[in-house]
Amino acid sequence: MCGIFAYTGKQQALPILLDGLTCLEYRGYDSAGIYIPESGVVKSVGAVDNLKKKIVLPMPGNSGIAHLRWATHGEPTEENAHPHSDSSETIWIVHNGIIENYKELKEMLLTKGCTFYSSTDTEVLAKLIGYYMEEKKDFEKSVLAALNDTKGTYGMVASYKNEPNKIIAARQGAPVVIGLGNGENFVASDVSPILRHTKDVIYLLDGDVAVLTPNNHTIYNLQNISIDRKTEIIEWDIEEAKKGEYAHFMLKEIMEGAEVVENTIRGRLIVDEGIAKLGGLDAVAEQIRTKKRIIIVGCGTAYYAGLVAEYMIEEFVGMPVEVEVGSEFRYRKPIIDQDTIVLAVTQSGETADTLEAIREGKRKGALTLGIVNTVGSTISRETDAGIYNHAGPEIGVASTKAFISQLTALALLTLFLGRQRGMSSSTGKMIAEEIKKLPQKIKEILDKKEEIQKIAKKYANSRDFLFMGRKYNYAIAFEGALKLKECSYIHAEGYGAGEMKHGPLAMIDENFPTFAIVPNDSVYEKNISNIQEIRARKGKVIVLTNEDNEEIRDMSDDIFIVPKTVEMLSPILNIIPLQLFAYYFAIERGLNVDRPRNLAKSVTVE
Ligand code: GLU
Repeated sequence: MCGIFAYTGKQQALPILLDGLTCLEYRGYDSAGIYIPESGVVKSVGAVDNLKKKIVLPMPGNSGIAHLRWATHGEPTEENAHPHSDSSETIWIVHNGIIENYKELKEMLLTKGCTFYSSTDTEVLAKLIGYYMEEKKDFEKSVLAALNDTKGTYGMVASYKNEPNKIIAARQGAPVVIGLGNGENFVASDVSPILRHTKDVIYLLDGDVAVLTPNNHTIYNLQNISIDRKTEIIEWDIEEAKKGEYAHFMLKEIMEGAEVVENTIRGRLIVDEGIAKLGGLDAVAEQIRTKKRIIIVGCGTAYYAGLVAEYMIEEFVGMPVEVEVGSEFRYRKPIIDQDTIVLAVTQSGETADTLEAIREGKRKGALTLGIVNTVGSTISRETDAGIYNHAGPEIGVASTKAFISQLTALALLTLFLGRQRGMSSSTGKMIAEEIKKLPQKIKEILDKKEEIQKIAKKYANSRDFLFMGRKYNYAIAFEGALKLKECSYIHAEGYGAGEMKHGPLAMIDENFPTFAIVPNDSVYEKNISNIQEIRARKGKVIVLTNEDNEEIRDMSDDIFIVPKTVEMLSPILNIIPLQLFAYYFAIERGLNVDRPRNLAKSVTVE
C-alpha cells in the first residue's frame, strides 16, 4: 500500500515523477504529492489527476520525490498528504508504512518546540530528521540518526533543498526498489514505474539506507557501514503493465486467464509421467518429504486460494493442512514444529501479515515455502524455497489473474507432493492432463463474457448478494462475494451451501439473489437441494454449472455453463465468470473497478 517514487538525474523531474505516480496509482489514491527541491511542494487529495490540476508550471528541477497515500494515520486530507517536512521546510520525506513509536517521538519533539501540521506518523519522522540536522549539520547522518530512533515500518525517501541532487531511500518492512539508469537513478515501491527507464534494479533489504546521486549509489546499513547489494535485471515487459485495448486493468487481467495458466505451468508439467517439476523446490525436496503437516497462510484472495488447496492436498496427498489468515496467525500461538511446512500464498510477496507468519514459522523451525507472483519480493527472498506464479504484474486492485495462477500453482504443488507420497502414476497423469487442458477451457469461458455481462446488468440494482458453493467450490463462494464487495461496495456473502439452513436462509427473499456454484461433481445433488430451499423462499438464483438441462433450467433464473474438469481444478474455471460478474456489475453501477474506494494493492501495513 502507498506508492513512493523518486528521481535524480539529468532530465526534468516533474514529468518523470508524475508518470511514476500514475504507474503506482493502484497502490493508493487517498492523496498525492511531489517535492522538487528547486521548485517546492504540491499536494492534493485524491489521485494523480487532481495533483496535476494543482501544479502551476513551470516546476523546474532535476530531482524530486513523490507519493500516493493510503492513509493509516489521519484522514485523507491535504494536510496529511505527503511529502512532509522538517521545521525548516528544507528536508522533505515520503513514506510507506507505520512509525509505531510516533507518539513518544512527537512528545519529545513538542518539548523541543516543533509544531505539527498533520496527524500523520510520517511528519514525526520528518521533524525528527530536522531535529538531528540542527545538531549534526549533515543530511545523511541526520536521516540515519532519525531512522535509528524509529520503530515500525518504512519505505522512505528523503530530499534536501540544499543538496538537490541527492536522495536518500531507506527500507524497513516496506518495499523499496532502486533503479539504476545512465546518469540517473530512481526509487520506487515496486519495479513497474522504473521499467520504462531501466531494467537494472536493486531491491533494498530491511535496514538498508541508499544514498543516490545521478551518477552514484551507495548502500549502508543503519550502523553506517557500507554494504553490497546485487543488481538484478528485470525481465518483465513494460507492455505487461499497460492496459492496452482494455478499458480497465481488471478486465485485461481476467482476459489473460488462459495465458496466465500457461505461464504458471510452463516447463513444470510432465504429462506423460504424471509429475510436476518444480525447480524452485528442488533444494528442499528431501526436507519436504519428511514433513507431516502444512499450514497455509494468506490474506484476502490468497487466503481463499489456500482454502481450495486444503481440499486438494488432503484429498490427493493425505497430509493434514490448516489454512489461516496472516493477521490472525501472527497474534495467536500457532503450534508449529520442525515437522511443519508454513506455506505463504501472496501476489505481491510483501503482504505484511503473511510475511510475519513466515518469520514466525522460521523462528519455530518450520520449513517455509512461498507461492509468490512478484519476483524478488520480500517473501520470495525470506522463504526457504518456493514457486513463482509467473502471472506478470497485476495492477487491478481486486485480484483476478493472480488468484487463477495461485490455484494453478497449488494444483502443481499437490501433484508434486502427491507423487512424493504414493499417488499413483495414473492419478498423476489424469491430474496433469486436466491441468494442461485448463487454458483452452478458460478461453471458452472468456469467449462468452457477454453472457455474464447481460446477467450482471440484470442484477446490477441488487443491494445484497449471496454466493453459495460446496466442497472445492466452498472457497469460490467466498472469493466471488469478495470480488463483488471490493468492486461494487454492496453487501455480498459467501456461504457453504450446506450452511444456508443454519442461519443465512433467513435473509433470502425476492430481493436477495444467489449465485450458486454447482458443477456436476460429487456434491451436485446436495447443491440442488440447497437451491430448492432458496427457491422455496422466492430467492432468485443464477446457476453456474457444467451441463444445461431441464432440471437446472427449471430451478434457475439465469444460467451460465462452464466446461467440465476434475473436481479439484473446477475452482480455477468457476471463479472466472464470478470475476467477470463483479467487473460488469461494478461497471454497470458506474464505479472505478481498478481503484475501489478505501482499498489499495499490496498491503504492506498491518
Ligand atoms: N502512515 C503513513 C500515513 O498515514 C503512510 C501510510 C502509507 O503507507 O501510505 O500517512
